[in-house]
Amino acid sequence: MTADFIDRIFNIFNILGSLSYGEDVTQMEHILQCSRLAQIDGADDALVAAALLHDIGQFLDEAGNAAEKRGIDARHEVTGAAFLRGHFPPAVTEPVRLHVEAKRYLCATEPGYSESLSGASVLSLRLQGGPMNAQEMGDFEKNPYFHEAVRLRRYDDQGKQKEWDVPPLESYRTLLESLLIPAAR
Ligand code: FE
Repeated sequence: MTADFIDRIFNIFNILGSLSYGEDVTQMEHILQCSRLAQIDGADDALVAAALLHDIGQFLDEAGNAAEKRGIDARHEVTGAAFLRGHFPPAVTEPVRLHVEAKRYLCATEPGYSESLSGASVLSLRLQGGPMNAQEMGDFEKNPYFHEAVRLRRYDDQGKQKEWDVPPLESYRTLLESLLIPAAR
């Protein structure tokens, strides 16, 4: 079972990861840079895994991806977290589910953050509801994985660097296997 689910994830990334991320990097480069940034930041294994897996929802639903391109928010963070749930604990799935909300949160709370976003992120922000209002910010801060979601968001924003040599997907297999919840092993 263990290997099955990890293989399934790796197959999805290997087949679709060469697609453009809509920035200067491919989807594969983006997720590998995000997990590397998490490691450099001293994140625990769960957050490193969340960084690697945060965009899995983009690869699961062709219709959803097409919708996003047509200007409809397909909520890839929700699709991705639902796919991972039951296999990985909330310390992995919750930051994945919340990484778009974290962008809306930072836009509302951090001066200069919105201006630092890439063109693609600014475009999607509008579809995702724009900056949070006060009520939404209060609710978001109560989530037990609020800090992890914000940290993941920063890796997501920074993981778009051209020609950065980072460890390959396969180097994360053991880490991912160690996080699988026992029933799924
Ligand atoms: Fe991302």
